[in-house]
Amino acid sequence: MSRNPSKILSTVFGYPAFRGEQSQIIDHIIAKRDALVLMPTGGGKSLCYQIPALCMDGTAIVISPLIALMQNQVEALQQLGVAAAALNSSHSMEEQATVRTALLNGELKLLYIAPERLFSGGFIDMLKRCDISLFAIDEAHCVSQWGHDFRPEYLRLEILAETFPNVPRLALTATADAPTEKDIIERLGLSYGKIFRAGFDRPNIRYRLTAKTNGVSQLLSFIGAEHGADAGIVYCMSRRKVEQVAKKIAATGRIALPYHAGLDPEVRRETQARFLKDDAVIIVATIAFGMGIDKPDVRFVAHLDLPKNMESYYQETGRAGRDGLPANAWLAYGLQDVAKLKSLMQNPDKTLQQQKLDRGKLESLLQFCESALCRRRLLLEYFGETPQEACGNCDNCLEPPALFDATEAAQMALSCIYRSGEMFGAGHIIDILLGADTDKIKKFGHDRLSTYTVGKGFSRADWQSILRQLLALGLLNIDTEGYGSLSLNENCRSVLKGETKLELKKNPVRHRKEKSTSGPSRNFGNEQEEVLFNYLKSVRLNLAKEQNVPPYVIFHDKT
Ligand code: ADP
Ligand code: MG
Ligand code: ZN
Repeated sequence: MSRNPSKILSTVFGYPAFRGEQSQIIDHIIAKRDALVLMPTGGGKSLCYQIPALCMDGTAIVISPLIALMQNQVEALQQLGVAAAALNSSHSMEEQATVRTALLNGELKLLYIAPERLFSGGFIDMLKRCDISLFAIDEAHCVSQWGHDFRPEYLRLEILAETFPNVPRLALTATADAPTEKDIIERLGLSYGKIFRAGFDRPNIRYRLTAKTNGVSQLLSFIGAEHGADAGIVYCMSRRKVEQVAKKIAATGRIALPYHAGLDPEVRRETQARFLKDDAVIIVATIAFGMGIDKPDVRFVAHLDLPKNMESYYQETGRAGRDGLPANAWLAYGLQDVAKLKSLMQNPDKTLQQQKLDRGKLESLLQFCESALCRRRLLLEYFGETPQEACGNCDNCLEPPALFDATEAAQMALSCIYRSGEMFGAGHIIDILLGADTDKIKKFGHDRLSTYTVGKGFSRADWQSILRQLLALGLLNIDTEGYGSLSLNENCRSVLKGETKLELKKNPVRHRKEKSTSGPSRNFGNEQEEVLFNYLKSVRLNLAKEQNVPPYVIFHDKT
């Protein structure tokens, strides 16, 4: 077998070129030097130790905490004709004995092992008698108590540096903030090594988000206009929706195949194979689709429902444009999604701590969706990078959302809430603002409050959008236990007094103008509005805590 990394890349793995810094990392390891590799999920960390393992004499020991992933990788390598094996708690005594013999005989190029196996049964002593090419420590953040995934067994990896001073160590992870990074370097003795840091940016992906009106027809016109003959993935939240959407796309003459965990494994395998082989197949899928699928020329990834959080969004959109050519990440979001995600989060199987974490993550995602700022920048900032400039290539950069001076509108809404006694929900407040003729308005004599607000050209949807933004900004409170009544707080004082100029995003969804004689009032426009209002209350509280103005509203001091 050749010992040339590029040759091995093409002959063994079938890839034409290295990605990012893979080639430098591989050369570094082959030169027997230590390294820490920080690279996003899907970035291609595995090749950084698999190829050195094939170029060097002896056996590479890969330490990995996840049995399932270990198994996948070993099977994939064996299919490529590489002598690889795994040792973990899922193996029988006989299987373990076979692997040990192969290791001692120098027959393995790679051995994947769980850390607890490494430190039991005299394994380390046995390794001393073997020819070891390198140690790869995958998911290296597990070594740190700062990391979200601390594994006590990982701490014992400290002895590798002492016991095998001449064997290079390569630590790899997708998630390491500064303290975690420091921990990894100290504990694994990498201080003489090199850090390879791959950015999260995917410059060829154009991020585009749109407010959902009729999601499917929006999607069809997007695909029709821009991806008439391209391969793509459409993500939906439910199996039923996957089936429906696939049918609708297929009805336009495209090949669109459903994919979800409810389908027969054989069907799923065929679907995957077809997607990889053909040029212009569209897969409509739940999140069950994607792991380990590597098609370079996926030209678009579309979300018809909100992804679970920013990490999922990054990972799912990251399946587009792996060949480096322009690709679209398109997402339509609406209030329904928030409601659905929220109900999924109230999972009794999860700890309160976990639920809180999930809510925080949903919050970040919503802010991302609502933002008027550069999407790429927000995304990279979320992952801890600090890009200096807007990208010029996302929807917000190409078509900055219209802002309007909402000072007067906010004052009208706030004073309407105040003067009606701070005891009504958004539905009734909007009825007042629109001068609607409802029993409730008559009963409370609230028609007198609309004198200044009617005829300003705001529709019900406009007012909803304004109230939502005021809530998200922390200028309003909402009672979530009772009827969702709105009330003022300290923060809105400067707006009411006219000391602060307030700019808000224009309501992106122009609903038809409602007549002022709308139907009976409810506290909320509908159930989803209610969920969103409640949700935004929690957002508001957190933002207030951090003294942080959300990105989608800009304040100007009126001086
Ligand atoms: P990570 O461990 O960083 O999450 P993987 O090593 O699992 O990522 O790689 C993700 C996918 O990218 C795999 O399907 C892998 O085969 C593919 N890949 C990695 N490097 C290359 C490359 N140079 N060219 C093409 N595909 C690659
Ligand atoms: Mg990996
Ligand atoms: Zn941008």
